[in-house]
Amino acid sequence: MPSYDSNNIFAKILRGELPCYKVYEDDKAIAFLDIMPRAPGHTLVLPKAPARNLLDIGADDLAHVARVAQKVAKAGMTALGADGITVQQFNEGPGGQVVFHLHVHVIPRKSGVPMKPPASEKEKPDVLADIAKKLSAALAAS
Ligand code: 5GP
Repeated sequence: MPSYDSNNIFAKILRGELPCYKVYEDDKAIAFLDIMPRAPGHTLVLPKAPARNLLDIGADDLAHVARVAQKVAKAGMTALGADGITVQQFNEGPGGQVVFHLHVHVIPRKSGVPMKPPASEKEKPDVLADIAKKLSAALAAS
């Protein structure tokens, strides 16, 4: 497996070199909206540690990402009125991974509404900003 490349787009977001719609941050993890959501509220949860994916992340960082993913999932249920949550995580190109800094997809779902295909359409900034506001408020209160 190749080693971690700190030029990936999520590393740039983590360093503040690129913007994001952040919904949660602590000392070990960050969560922000996917700009091409498969459903409204599609959020990515990342460790701050430079891990490529599940195959090289430390166990403690992985456990922390899982804790944050659970918080984000619960916020999707309460703040966005989701009926369910889909969680996905891809590893290496053949496993479906496109951006090589570990991230967990937390996708709020509504009954009877299929997910859009991956990376199919960029969401409008005002829609993302509104959802980020709702999710961050729910996460701050959790
Ligand atoms: P992967 O297949 O690596 O798990 O998914 C990468 C995800 O990153 C995709 O869902 C895609 O929509 C999302 N994405 C790609 N570029 C950006 C970006 O610049 N900002 C954000 N927030 N998400 C991105």
